[in-house]
Amino acid sequence: MERIFVSSCLLGALVRYDGGAKTLDSHLLEKWRAEGRLVPLCPEVTAGLPTPRPAAELEPGARADEVLTGQGRIYDKDGHDMTAAFVRGADLALQTAQKAQCRFALLTDGSPSCGSSYVYRGHFDGTRQPGEGVVAARLRRAGVAVFGQDQIGDLARALDIAENTPV
Ligand code: SF4
Repeated sequence: MERIFVSSCLLGALVRYDGGAKTLDSHLLEKWRAEGRLVPLCPEVTAGLPTPRPAAELEPGARADEVLTGQGRIYDKDGHDMTAAFVRGADLALQTAQKAQCRFALLTDGSPSCGSSYVYRGHFDGTRQPGEGVVAARLRRAGVAVFGQDQIGDLARALDIAENTPV
């Protein structure tokens, strides 16, 4: 059975920077949870960051790959360099996903960690730009198929293909 690494805030965990969750109301998620497929983690909290915590964004113009290789930074709204904690969170996420043999991930879009199709552009003004967070980048480069919460139907189809294709 394929297991799915999942951002724990999608499952209702109160781990977001603002102290809230990002609960995804989905029968698919409930089914997968009941089947024991889900491997939930909040990379930022696992890396030791408190909840609540100041919002953080990739610095303007930086890509997640650059942050992971030390060529880009992540700052919080107060101007503190949070890069080390976010990279640690990405490393711990990959370790967890690999230990559980997850080939699929469902992540919260927009986050500097879990974003998979967009992130915020680094000016804390609510403007989005195409891109990914450091967790999504770490997982993808390791071969994990990453989906945002709005792509849960695509994830269901990918799972179906993976489990029903003769090897
Ligand atoms: Fe944690 Fe990722 Fe959710 Fe942010 S988006 S609260 S890092 S699980």
